[in-house]
Amino acid sequence: MAYDSSNIFARILRGEIPCKKVFESAHSLAFHDITPAAPVHVLVIPKGAYVNWNDFSANAPEAEIVDFVRSIGAVARQLGLPASGYRTLSNAGSDAHQTVPHLHVHIFGGKKLGAMLPGASETQ
Ligand code: 5GP
Repeated sequence: MAYDSSNIFARILRGEIPCKKVFESAHSLAFHDITPAAPVHVLVIPKGAYVNWNDFSANAPEAEIVDFVRSIGAVARQLGLPASGYRTLSNAGSDAHQTVPHLHVHIFGGKKLGAMLPGASETQ
């Protein structure tokens, strides 16, 4: 899938629409999700043009990958999440219901998050 530079996160990166920024590094940006699904719901995105995890993991330079992975951890620490726990999730493609075609990792926290997927056992 070719990268579409009109997507909403590309527009946020260009400063065309606002976001509630929580963290920024050389290659990554984190901001609050506009429709939070948990008390804490932050999105971390690379500044580079990558459609999703598949594109990023195959094509991004190592410096951008290192920056992105470290940024996700830094955001979680900045938000005070490691003590009680948190979840990271990245939807890639149609089966995963990815709705914005720019790589993003969701960070969820601030409550007991329950089973990983709807219908999954809480004991697994
Ligand atoms: P996906 O379904 O692609 O994994 O997640 C896309 C996420 O982007 C959703 O959780 C949605 O609420 C969020 N989102 C969509 N448009 C905007 C926006 O304009 N600003 C912010 N901050 N989040 C957005």
